[in-house]
Amino acid sequence: MPQFLLYLFAKIKKIILHFKKQKKMKEIMTVYYMEAKSARVGGRKVAWITSGGPVEPLIAMDVIPVYPENHGAMIGASKMGTGLCETAESMGYSSDLCSYARSDIACATVNGGPIGGLPRPDMLVCCNNICGTVLKWYEIQARYFNIPLFILDTPFCHVGFAEEARRYVRRQLDDYIVFLEQVCGRKMDHDRMKEVGILSLEGQRLWQAVLDTTTHSPAPMSAFDAFYHLALIVTLRGTQEVIDYYTQLLEKMKDRVAKGIGAVPNEKYRLLWDNIPIWHRTRWLSQKFASHDACLVADTYTSAWCGTMKYIDENRFFDSMAEAYTRIYLNIGVDEMARTVLGMVDKYKVDGIVMHSNRSCKPYSFGQYDIQKIVERERGIPSLMIEADMVDERSFSESQVATRIDAFMEMIKQKRG
Ligand code: SF4
Repeated sequence: MPQFLLYLFAKIKKIILHFKKQKKMKEIMTVYYMEAKSARVGGRKVAWITSGGPVEPLIAMDVIPVYPENHGAMIGASKMGTGLCETAESMGYSSDLCSYARSDIACATVNGGPIGGLPRPDMLVCCNNICGTVLKWYEIQARYFNIPLFILDTPFCHVGFAEEARRYVRRQLDDYIVFLEQVCGRKMDHDRMKEVGILSLEGQRLWQAVLDTTTHSPAPMSAFDAFYHLALIVTLRGTQEVIDYYTQLLEKMKDRVAKGIGAVPNEKYRLLWDNIPIWHRTRWLSQKFASHDACLVADTYTSAWCGTMKYIDENRFFDSMAEAYTRIYLNIGVDEMARTVLGMVDKYKVDGIVMHSNRSCKPYSFGQYDIQKIVERERGIPSLMIEADMVDERSFSESQVATRIDAFMEMIKQKRG
C-alpha cells in the first residue's frame, strides 16, 4: 500500500478511536448528571463534596456525590469561568478567592455554566485536606441552600502521621456516618460499606496502572489525556462503573504500548506537569508542547487520586480512611511533596518539569519554588514556571507563556545535546 494511504488510514483510525473514547466518557457523565438532577424523583439524596473528601460512605448510602470542583473544571474547559468569576466579584467576593469557589458560588445563584448549574444538594460534605478555602466556601453554600454541612477536619501532616491525628480523624469518621444516617433517615449497611471500599481500592489500582503505562517510551497517553480520564476516579470512586471503565482504558493503553503508538508522534522529550491543569488552555498547551516533540507524560495532579493507596488496608478500609484521606498530596509538608516529585521524575524518566503557578490554588502553589530548587539540585533537570489560573482566563497571557515554553524547550534540547 502506498505510504500516504497508510498514513491516511492511521489518521482515520485515530479519529474514530478518539470519538469512541469521547462518547464513552461523555455518556457516563451525562447519565451521572441526569441521575443527580432527577435524584428527588427516584427518592435519592445528593451531596456536594470536596474533591479530597471521603466519598465511599456516600456511595454505600446510595447518596449521589456531586463535585463542585469537577464542575469548576468543566466551567474552565468551556471557557465560561471568567464571566462567572466576574459575577462572584460583583457579589462582593475577592478576585483572590479560588476560581472554583467563585464560579460555583456565582453558578448556584444563576444556574449557569455548561450544564445549567449543579443538581440541588440535600447536604454538604467538606474535608479540609485540600485547603482552608473549602471551609468558608461550603459554609456559604450551606447558608444559601439552608442544608446540613458535615466538616471533616484533617490535621496538616508536616512530617509523618501522628497517632493522635489518626484517632482524631477516625472518631470524626464515625460522626460522618451518624450525620449521613440522620440526613438519609436510615442506617448504614456496613457490609455494603466494605464492598464499596474494595471497589474503591480496585479503582485506584487500575487508575495507577493506567498512569503507569506512560513509563513506556513513547508514552501511549499524555497528562492531557489523564486530565480527561480522571473524571471517573474522582466522581464515581467505589462503583463498578469505574472498574469497567479503567479496565478497558488500561487494555487500550497496553495495546498502544505494544504497537509503539505514542500520544505525541516522535516523542523526544518527556516532561512532568505540576498543579491543576489550566482548563481553558489544555488543547493549546498540548499542541504547543507537541510542536517541540515533547510529551507531558505524568503529573502530580491526577496521580493524587491513587497516591495514598499505601495507607489503605483492604480488610479495614473504613478505619484506614483516616490516614489515607489525611496524608494526601496537598496536606503534606514541602519536603514530602518534593520526595513525591523526585520519585515521579525517576519513575517516568522526565527531562524537565512544567509547573503551573496557579493564582487560585495557594496550597498547591506555595511550595513550588522550593520543590523546583530541590529537584534542580537533586536531579539537575530544568523546570518552567507558568503563571496562570485554572479557570479564570484573565490571568493568562498566551504570547508570554508561548515565549517561555519555547525558551524552556531550547534549554532542554541543548541539555540533551
Ligand atoms: S484552593 Fe485549591 S484545593 Fe482549594 S478548592 Fe481551590 S483549587 Fe481546590
